[in-house]
Amino acid sequence: MEHHDHHDHHNQSAKSILIALIMNLLFSALELIGGLLTNSAAITSDSLHSFADAVSTGIAYLFERKKSKKYSIIGGFIVSGFLVVGSIHLIIEAIERIQEPAEVSYEGMILFAVLGVIFNFIAAFATREGKSFNQKTVNLHMLEDTFSWLAVLIGAIVMKLTGFHLIDPILSITIALYILYRAFINCYNVVINKE
Ligand SMILES: [Zn+2]
Repeated sequence: MEHHDHHDHHNQSAKSILIALIMNLLFSALELIGGLLTNSAAITSDSLHSFADAVSTGIAYLFERKKSKKYSIIGGFIVSGFLVVGSIHLIIEAIERIQEPAEVSYEGMILFAVLGVIFNFIAAFATREGKSFNQKTVNLHMLEDTFSWLAVLIGAIVMKLTGFHLIDPILSITIALYILYRAFINCYNVVINKE
């Protein structure tokens, strides 16, 4: 009976991680569309950020299942490498935009940022009573993401009011640096979980 309960709890936790993984992949695809529509470097960067979130939840999911460890380690390193290359590319693009400003739809940015704040806030609220360590981590992260979208929202409003276009590439670089940091944390976690 005890074993059965433990098994149920384990499945429940793996299930919520899987839901978080799918949500992040959906966010990532939506943000990529948003980045293309608004031409905002910050939203494009956040698309890679959501993909990075999906990657870390994916790694957590594989470790939770305790299966195919070797493949989750190799996969973790490959995807982290992709994130490093992607974020360096975003930083280079943002620097180019600082030198030569691009036309960005601030109204579109504001709209996407409002949606980002709302969705992340709902997700943070829905996961607030997580019992496992993973669920707590997911919840904290959702709160972090809510605040990062709030920063994009404020940035977009300020840009619309003042026309100070440097905020978009600066936000983009900040998000890209965060993705870089996360890629290294992913690798570290993969090595630590190896046992
Ligand atoms: Zn995130």
